[in-house]
Amino acid sequence: MKILFIGPPGSGKGTQSQLLHDQFGAVHLSTGDMFRAAIMNKTQVGLEAQAYMDRGDYVPDSVVIGLIDERLSQPDCQNGFILDGFPRTVPQAEALDELLAKRNSKLDAVFYFNVAQDVLVERLSSRRTCRHCGKIMNAQQLASLAEQPTCEARPGQACEFEQRPDDREEVVQKRIQVYQDQTTPVVKYYSSREGFVEIDGSLPQDQVFSMIQSTLHGTKGPTS
Ligand code: AMP
Repeated sequence: MKILFIGPPGSGKGTQSQLLHDQFGAVHLSTGDMFRAAIMNKTQVGLEAQAYMDRGDYVPDSVVIGLIDERLSQPDCQNGFILDGFPRTVPQAEALDELLAKRNSKLDAVFYFNVAQDVLVERLSSRRTCRHCGKIMNAQQLASLAEQPTCEARPGQACEFEQRPDDREEVVQKRIQVYQDQTTPVVKYYSSREGFVEIDGSLPQDQVFSMIQSTLHGTKGPTS
């Protein structure tokens, strides 16, 4: 199953990808996570991406497309994946069509998470992310836990949650604006295609997850 999640920052794409990964082992491809890992590892891509991310701007298309092309070639992606946060521009969407065509492949479903702006700002300001594995929780949820969840990147150790630098309010406004300018046309790019589904991303996460699951069961099943 090859799935695409599109939506503004804070619309729940990462959380829903995480749920699909936890329940069905689906491969989660988040370009944002890839850039954060590259920054932590101080690679060339990380060095290039950091300034854009800190400002809330998009990383140049050529860098993102190269990263995804390389990742889609790896063995774990051959049976399916969830794309979260890519494509974000029309040239990226066109490049994805080419990358899939050259692999004789195509997307099975495109989920568009529609969420009002005030909900996004509220969600992002309370979002906490594990700096190692990218697990997402909100600050209230975390405060109510007796112990920290186990980190997927460091078996046996607890997650280390922090506020992402770009989840600070001043950067969030910029990211939403950039999304509106550059990614809204991508929603239009896919909206008339078979397999496009609009979801009310402001609903509770378990309801959103049920809707995604029932759509996927109506096609080929979440992991096939
Ligand atoms: P995310 O974790 O998906 O919110 O992404 C965090 C940041 O990474 C974005 O604000 C961009 O700076 C950068 N980024 C992630 N994916 C892309 C993409 N497809 N195109 C351009 N920049 C991206």
